[in-house]
Amino acid sequence: MERLLTRCRALPVPATCNHQLSGYILRRFPHCAPGRGKRLVLSRMFQPQNLREDQVLSLEGKSDDLTCKSQRLMLQVGLIHPASSGCYHLLPYTVRAMEKLVRVIDQEMQAIGGQKVNMPSLSPAELWRATNRWDLMGKELLRLRDRHSKEYCLGPTHEEAITALVASQKTLSYKQLPFLLYQVTRKFRDEPRPRFGLLRGREFYMKDMYTFDSSPEAARQTYSLVCDAYSRLFDRLGLQCVKVQADVGSIGGTMSHEFQLPVDIGEDRFAVCPSCSFAANVETLDLSQMNCPACQGPLTETKGIEVGHTFYLGTKYSSVFNAQFINVHGKPSLAEMGCYGLGVTRILAAAIEVLSTEDCIRWPGLLAPYQVCLIPPKKGSKEEAAAELTGPLYDHIAEAVPQLRGEVLLDDRTHLTIGNRLKDANKFGYPFVIITGKRALEDPALFEVWCQNTSEVVFLTEEAVVELLSHVQVV
Ligand code: ATP
Ligand code: MG
Repeated sequence: MERLLTRCRALPVPATCNHQLSGYILRRFPHCAPGRGKRLVLSRMFQPQNLREDQVLSLEGKSDDLTCKSQRLMLQVGLIHPASSGCYHLLPYTVRAMEKLVRVIDQEMQAIGGQKVNMPSLSPAELWRATNRWDLMGKELLRLRDRHSKEYCLGPTHEEAITALVASQKTLSYKQLPFLLYQVTRKFRDEPRPRFGLLRGREFYMKDMYTFDSSPEAARQTYSLVCDAYSRLFDRLGLQCVKVQADVGSIGGTMSHEFQLPVDIGEDRFAVCPSCSFAANVETLDLSQMNCPACQGPLTETKGIEVGHTFYLGTKYSSVFNAQFINVHGKPSLAEMGCYGLGVTRILAAAIEVLSTEDCIRWPGLLAPYQVCLIPPKKGSKEEAAAELTGPLYDHIAEAVPQLRGEVLLDDRTHLTIGNRLKDANKFGYPFVIITGKRALEDPALFEVWCQNTSEVVFLTEEAVVELLSHVQVV
C-alpha cells in the first residue's frame, strides 16, 4: 500500500479540477451531475460500434497501408470513427483526453508568458501570395473560393495570419516584447498519404505558437524557453521524447528542432550519439558520413514520430508584412520571430502507440478520459449480496476526493460477469479499476483494486480505496 501511494504521488503535477459542468447541463441532464447523488453509468453512455480493420482501410484509400496499433485500438474501443480519408470523428472519450491535453498545454504555455488567441481557419489567398507560399505549398494546401470568387485556403499553419495581425498594431514598443501568442485549432493539409489514424490526418488539431522579440539574442532566449516548456510537457505526460536538430522545410528560418517519440512505426528517422548529446533528423545529415559531427563517435539510428517542431524564423515573415516595433532608439525595427508546433491529436495517438499493449490501451495518467471504473457484481452471482456496496463507494469517492468528481464511471452492465467487464475496462485503460467481488463479502469488506499503470492488484477497505485515490492527480 505504501509503495502504491508513493507511486501515485509521483504521478505528474496537479492542476485545476476539471469539474465545471454548467448549471444548464446539470438541470438538463441531472444524471451527469457527479457528486450530487447521481452517478455516471456506462450503460447510458454513447458507445459506438467497433469496426473491422478492412472497413477502415477502404476509407483510408490504399489497402496496402497497414494500420498501426493505436489506430486499431482507438477504432476498436470507439475512441474515433472514420469520416473520410484522413478525417475522423473524435468520440467522447477522445474529446475528454484531448481537453485534458489542452489544459496541460495551456498550463505550460502560460507559465512562460503565452497568451491564447484563436485565428480563422479560412485564410485569404493574398496572405499566402505575399510570402509565395500559395505556390510553394502546392497540393498540400486545401483551396476554395467563396461566392465572389475570392480565393482562400484552409489554414495548414498560421505564420502569415499572425504576422499580418501583429503588423496591424502600429504602436508596439520594445518594452512590450516578447509576445508569445498561441492557439489550439484545427489544421488542414491535403496529405498525399493520410494514414495511421490520428497520426497523419488531413484535418487535425495543432497547438501553434508564434513569438515576437526585439532582437536576435532575445528571440534565441525565447526559443530555448519554449523548447524547455515542450520538454517539461512531455515529461509530465511520461513520454520520452528526443529533441533533434531538424530541417526548416517550407516554413523557413535558420534553426529548427523536432521532438521525436521513438517508435518503430514512426515515419521519421533520426540519429543520436550515445557518447554526447547530439541528435539530428537524418534529413539534416550527410549520409555518406554517419559519424557524430560533434565528437566523431558512431551514431545510432532510430525511427520516431514527430510530435513537436520549433523554428527560429528571424525576420523572414516580419519583413514581408512589415511587423515592426519601436526600438530603444525610438526607431521602427522588424520583429524577430519564432514558431512552434505541437501535434495535439498526433500526441494522443502517439502516446497510445508507445504505452499500450497489443490488446489494451494505456494512457499517460494525466490524460486518461476517466480515472476510475467501478465494477459491481453480476446479477444472480454468489457475490450479489455485496452489490449494494458499490454505490456508496462511488459517492464516498465523489465526496472525499473532489478532483475525481466526473472522473469515476460505474459499469452497471450487471448482466455481464465481472471478468467480462474487467476485460473491457482493461482495454479502455482506466488507471484504476475497482471490483466489488468475493472479498467484499468479508468483514470488513475488501475491494479488488487494479492499478493499471503499475500493473498491481491489491485488496483494500473502502477507507483505504479513498485514501489511495486521494493521491491521484487530475488536470
Ligand atoms: P510531418 O513531417 O510529420 O508531415 P510537418 O513537419 O509537416 O510534419 P509541422 O508543420 O512541423 O509538421 O507541424 C507541427 C506539428 O503538427 C508536427 O510536429 C506534428 O506533430 C503535427 N502534424 C503535422 N502534420 C500532421 C498531420 N497530417 N496529422 C496530424 N498531426 C500533424
Ligand atoms: Mg515538422
